[in-house]
Amino acid sequence: MDKEKIKQAVRLLIEGIGDDPARPGLRRTPERVAAMCEEIYAGIGADPAKVFGELHREVHDEIVLVKDIPFYSMCEHHLLPFLGKAHVAYLPDAGRICGLSKIARCVEAHAQRLQLQERLTAEIADSVVKALKPRGVLVIVEAEHLCMTMRGIKAPGSRTVTSVVRGLFRENPATRAEVMALIQRTA
Ligand SMILES: [Zn+2]
Repeated sequence: MDKEKIKQAVRLLIEGIGDDPARPGLRRTPERVAAMCEEIYAGIGADPAKVFGELHREVHDEIVLVKDIPFYSMCEHHLLPFLGKAHVAYLPDAGRICGLSKIARCVEAHAQRLQLQERLTAEIADSVVKALKPRGVLVIVEAEHLCMTMRGIKAPGSRTVTSVVRGLFRENPATRAEVMALIQRTA
């Protein structure tokens, strides 16, 4: 990441909005933002396929669901955060499963970049398909977009829900209903 460029851009932004980059409170802001970018955009250039590592071979052919995975991403249209939870379910094939934390790291790798919620949802599903070749995948992302809640239509608390369904979860309504019930169960 080009931190110098980020610092220049932040100084220009501060000037552009009519504030003074030289005043004490803002003097170190460009540096802080540049350091923060390394963290919040860590997914740029990362290979999400690598997070899966070694797969386990287990005799497990039932639904695996990792739900309520928290994530933070940045809307590519407004450079404001959108954040919420992802739920990722898959139906293993031939016992191919991964550690549960790998799913959360896959979500993180796709979230930590300039994103759109729809694309985030599809990219997570595609990564799981590629890594595990499961019989089915279902990804649901629920998020609050600060570009909706602090500007424009100002709809605080409103959430956007997106889903991507692949394979058996798409073809078989009973299997899909089973996984939806698991996601909606609050306990
Ligand atoms: Zn936006």
